[in-house]
Amino acid sequence: MKQIRVLIGKAGLDGHDRGALVIAQALRDHGMEVIYTGLRQSPDQIAQAAVQEDVDVVGLSSLSGAHRSLFPKVVEALQARNAKDIPVIGGGVIPAEDIPFLEEKGIKKIFTSGASTDDLASYIKRLVGASTAPPKKIAHIGIAVRQIKESLPFYQDILGLDVEKIEEVESEQVRVAFLRIGETRIELLEPMNEQSAIHRFIEKKGEGVHHLAFEVDDLEERLSEYRSKGVPLLNETPVTGAENSQIAFVHPKAASRVLIELCQHQESEVE
Ligand code: ZN
Repeated sequence: MKQIRVLIGKAGLDGHDRGALVIAQALRDHGMEVIYTGLRQSPDQIAQAAVQEDVDVVGLSSLSGAHRSLFPKVVEALQARNAKDIPVIGGGVIPAEDIPFLEEKGIKKIFTSGASTDDLASYIKRLVGASTAPPKKIAHIGIAVRQIKESLPFYQDILGLDVEKIEEVESEQVRVAFLRIGETRIELLEPMNEQSAIHRFIEKKGEGVHHLAFEVDDLEERLSEYRSKGVPLLNETPVTGAENSQIAFVHPKAASRVLIELCQHQESEVE
């Protein structure tokens, strides 16, 4: 993966750059290459440096209160240089009520003084496509059961959840009942035979919560990213899960002994 290049620009006339220097160092610690423009740069100089240095992102810092005029001017100066694809983010002493205005002017995101440098670094990685977005929601909670028909009455009659469907998933050798609960679902998993991982799970631990499934985009891309970060995977490539979704499991040792399923549904099936 190529190194992310960040330009830290200190726009305006205030003479304090301790904050900007701390951020520059923090981003370097996250493996990024950081170019710092120094104090009192004009928006034009910052945009010029960004283009010359071929950076992936411009981070602006302002403590002087001039962010309302200076930040948008940097965005404009980049546009004027045909470099509007370089995203601009900002930080410093910025009142919350100014954030919508700045976002409207094309600043991608504002980090106020409470934000951590780790948050900033992971935001930049996502912004430049070096890491994938967090999972969108808990798609379902998988519960291992001996027999769906014995387990259903509590979920269906007592809780009052509707059974959306019951289907067999060949790849996992399980019969699955889906019960919708708000944005997510309960997935009751019954082993189809003794080869099923669910059968082995029940033999070992008894019935109970088996896995959490996170809805994601770009499952393949995510698997290769996780692999490159040393995350142990149970599926190196996606397999077909229920409803023709693409799924892959992450080893429980990566997640405090919780089995995590990543699933990607077809566009049309995502509500
Ligand atoms: Zn599942």
